Amino acid sequence: MDPGVICFQHCGPKVFCFSLPEYCPICENDLSIANFSLLPFRVPYPFIRASQYPCAVVIKPTTGDFLNDYYNSMDLHIGVTTSTGTIVEFDKNGLRRHRMGQWDQCLLLDQAPSPWVEHWDNTLLQICKQKCWSPKSYNEEKHNCYSFVLTFLVSLNYGSLSKAASSKTVFCEKFIVPRTTSAGKYISLYRKLKEFGFYIHKPGCK
Ligand SMILES: [Zn+2]
Repeated sequence: MDPGVICFQHCGPKVFCFSLPEYCPICENDLSIANFSLLPFRVPYPFIRASQYPCAVVIKPTTGDFLNDYYNSMDLHIGVTTSTGTIVEFDKNGLRRHRMGQWDQCLLLDQAPSPWVEHWDNTLLQICKQKCWSPKSYNEEKHNCYSFVLTFLVSLNYGSLSKAASSKTVFCEKFIVPRTTSAGKYISLYRKLKEFGFYIHKPGCK
């Protein structure tokens, strides 16, 4: 899934690309004998596969994936994973559990450490038993994926995560916006590379 974005610095600004070119796109010198001012390194891929993160809160675009389809935080869908990495989500189809599928390119909002595992699973089970998570009671504005996850998190009583979960606005501010902002930088870089092959970052420019 990781497209493998590389960053290096040779004669000036940082250069981003998918694979190291033969010649520097700025000074056109041969890079195989070059002295780099910043050695090529892989830019960290910000996304995760939800099933590999037990007891986690994850988000992804409602349709498509982050790299190709994401434009703003209005289009996000939220879910949680169990201690075995099963994804639990609530949407117009009601409550669903699955092992794989469309949760392979997510942002991790938070993950509970191992002492919390049992409490996490038990609390999730209790919330899932509530009758209000049926397809019939789903409402895109008022009773949606956030309602389910935030209800669970409040009931979990897990530090600052649960505290923030009592207000959707606070939760978005503290847990979603910082992640989508930093992922947004990677996404726009990825799209530039897809279009132009490489990208030269001039300090002070966007
Ligand atoms: Zn150069």
